[in-house]
Amino acid sequence: MGLVVQKYGGSSVADAEGIKRVAKRIVEAKKNGHQVVVVVSAMGDTTDELIDLAQEVSPMPAGREFDMLLTAGERISMALLAMAIKNLGHEAQSFTGSQAGVITDSVHNKARIIDVTPGRIRTALDEGNIAIVAGFQGVSQDKKDITTLGRGGSDTTAVALAAALDAEVCEIYTDVDGVFTADPRVVKKARKIDWISFEDMLELASSGSKVLLHRCVEYARRYNIPIHVRSSFSGLTGTWVSSEPITQGDKKVEQAIISGVAHDTSEAKITVVGVPDKPGEAAAIFRTISDAEINIDMIVQNVSAASTGLTDISFTLPKAEGRKAIDALEKNKHGIGYESLRYDDQIGKISLVGAGMKTNPGVTADFFTALSDAGVNIELISTSEIRISVVTRADDVKEAVTAVHSAFGLDSDSDEAVVYGGTGR
Ligand code: ASP
Ligand code: MG
Repeated sequence: MGLVVQKYGGSSVADAEGIKRVAKRIVEAKKNGHQVVVVVSAMGDTTDELIDLAQEVSPMPAGREFDMLLTAGERISMALLAMAIKNLGHEAQSFTGSQAGVITDSVHNKARIIDVTPGRIRTALDEGNIAIVAGFQGVSQDKKDITTLGRGGSDTTAVALAAALDAEVCEIYTDVDGVFTADPRVVKKARKIDWISFEDMLELASSGSKVLLHRCVEYARRYNIPIHVRSSFSGLTGTWVSSEPITQGDKKVEQAIISGVAHDTSEAKITVVGVPDKPGEAAAIFRTISDAEINIDMIVQNVSAASTGLTDISFTLPKAEGRKAIDALEKNKHGIGYESLRYDDQIGKISLVGAGMKTNPGVTADFFTALSDAGVNIELISTSEIRISVVTRADDVKEAVTAVHSAFGLDSDSDEAVVYGGTGR
C-alpha cells in the first residue's frame, strides 16, 4: 500500500459536520494501510469573505498582506481537520504551505510553485501521522514571503505534493461525482466520465470546465500523476485523469470520440470597428493588448467592405480585463487608427472537446447542425485539433450546451448527475 494524497475542497469542509465526515474518510484510507497526506481548502466561502473584508479596508490591498490574509482560511480548516482526526483516535499534524515545503516565485495572488521540499511531511508520515497541509499557499524563494497560488489553487498544491512524495494517486474530493460530459449544474443528463486523458481534460479546463483547474492538470501531466476526481459525499468511483486508459474488469476503457461539452460565461467580446485593411493593423491592436498584460482567447477579422477598405476585428477576453483593454485601446486610438470600439459582455462560449474528432470527419458539421436545430446563432468560431468552440449570446448557452450534448449521444439514461453542494466554484 502506497502513499495517497487526498484533497478536499471548501464545500466538503463547509462546517463542523463536514469536517467530521471528511475526517472519517481520511481515517478509513489510513486504516486500509495507506500513508495519507491531505490537502485542504478553506471552509465554504471563507476565501470570498476574506476578500470582501480586505476590500472594505482598502480598494487595492497590497499583495503581500492580501496573501497573508487569504492563507488564514486554510489554516483554520487544516487545524480543525487535524483535531477531528485526533478525536477519532488517530495521529495527525497540520502544516502551512511554507512548513510543507511549497516554494513559489514571488508573484503575489498568483504565484507558481517552483519547488517542493516536503521533508517535514515525510518525517510526520514516518512517525505514523496523517499529514494535513494547507492548500493554495506557499512561501516565495527569494523574499520568504507568504504567497497564494490563485483561486482554486489547492488542487495544484495536491498534485505538486503528490509528485514530490511520489504518491500512487492524487485524489481530488469535490461536491460532484467526478468529471462529467457537461456541467451537471446545467445539463441534468450529463454523464460521469470513467477515464479521460490529460489532453482532453486540459482542453475542457481551458474551455470553462470548473471541476479541475488548467494549472493543476498541466502539473499532473508534466509529472505523470494520475488524478482521481470523486465526491466526498458519496462512496462512488469517480473519474480517472491519466495518460493511459484505466482497465475495468479486464477491459481497457476506450477513448471516447467526444469527451464532453464545456461552456464559459466569464468572457466578453471587443470589436474594433473600421480598421484599415492593411498590413500591421492586427499587430498594432494585439501589441496594445499584450502590453497591458491581457490574455485573449478567440479572434476573427471580417472581410473588408470593398467601398471603404475598412474591416472589423473582434476578440474575446476575460470580462475582468474588459475595462483595462478598452482603456488601452482608446489610449492608442491614433496609433492604431480605427473608427470605434464595441464592448459586449453578454456572450457565452460553447466548446466540444475530444481527441476522436481528429479522425472522425463530420463532427464539425454535426456540431453546427445541432446548434442550428436549437435556433442558436453563432458569432465567432475557433478550433484546435481536438476542440471546436463557438461564441453565442449568453442567454443561449444553456440551450446550446444541452442540444450539442444530446446530438453527440452523450445523454445518460439515468439521473447520475448529482450535485451535493457548493456552487461549482
Ligand atoms: N480557498 C481557495 C479558493 O477558494 C483555494 C481553493 O479553494 O482551492 O480559491
Ligand atoms: Mg474554495
